[in-house]
Amino acid sequence: MINVSNLSFTYDGNAKETLHDLSFEVKAGEIFGFLGPSGAGKSTTQKILFGLLKKYQGSIKVMDKEIKEWDSSIYEQIGISFELPNHYSNLSALENLEYFKSLYKGSCHETLEILKWVGLEDSANIRVQNFSKGMKIRLNVARSILHNPKILFLDEPTSGLDPVNAKMIKDLVLRLRDAGATVFVTTHNMTVADELCDQVGFITNGQIRAIDSPQSLKKKYGKRSIVVSYLAEGKINQEEFPIEGLGVNNEFIDLLNSGHSVESLHSQETTLEDIFIRITGEELDK
Ligand code: ADP
Repeated sequence: MINVSNLSFTYDGNAKETLHDLSFEVKAGEIFGFLGPSGAGKSTTQKILFGLLKKYQGSIKVMDKEIKEWDSSIYEQIGISFELPNHYSNLSALENLEYFKSLYKGSCHETLEILKWVGLEDSANIRVQNFSKGMKIRLNVARSILHNPKILFLDEPTSGLDPVNAKMIKDLVLRLRDAGATVFVTTHNMTVADELCDQVGFITNGQIRAIDSPQSLKKKYGKRSIVVSYLAEGKINQEEFPIEGLGVNNEFIDLLNSGHSVESLHSQETTLEDIFIRITGEELDK
């Protein structure tokens, strides 16, 4: 759905390139996560992908057509949810959606139905100026999917949401993917990335450092082990064993049979965040 080859970009007036030679592909029906700390170049890449910044080098094909050759009809095919919501504050949630719906030529979802998907059905008639930040973010997501877009661009879709609403949005994104949408997410939140994405691209300083599925990254870089806590001579001790070959690991078996009281057995998995730091040498912002 999206093919990017050798993309470079410099903002007017900036001496330094913001994006250097990015190449990646987003396949139809997958959730692709673009991950990196603030200032890495995620939003800039996204703005180029949906045609907002035009003076780039390289090639970008969206649905097999160079982005520079698309006219405004591309906005019938893609949905965009920016990190900072922009709504008409004097209008209600429903009126906002009805207005944006009227701009599309193609068929759209029922506005009240969409509000249900983001948990705002009870606030449909409330003016947006009285909405909390989280409600505005959810309305933003609702607006981006009104016209059933083939590609959905989401910028930090769960930032500013409490865990319950963040889960609602993540579940909605997974449902849209399962119904055939392609999703491009930018985030600095590795948990979101791990839970949502089929593929992730790590970006720092405008360069891609790795592209793979979270599962495969964990397999390549992850360390899977069991930590046994046990009571011996009046104090708690801990020993770590690799999960690989655990059943024939004599030290592990001897410990279990030693007569010490085992207090807990915990499996340890490397997180995507650990892997990001290991590959890029950089921390993500919290
Ligand atoms: P991210 O989305 O990963 O936080 P951005 O794409 O917003 O990163 O920014 C990448 C770099 O480009 C940063 O150094 C930022 O300061 C710079 N930048 C972003 N927008 C502009 C702009 N409009 N003009 C000049 N520089 C910009």
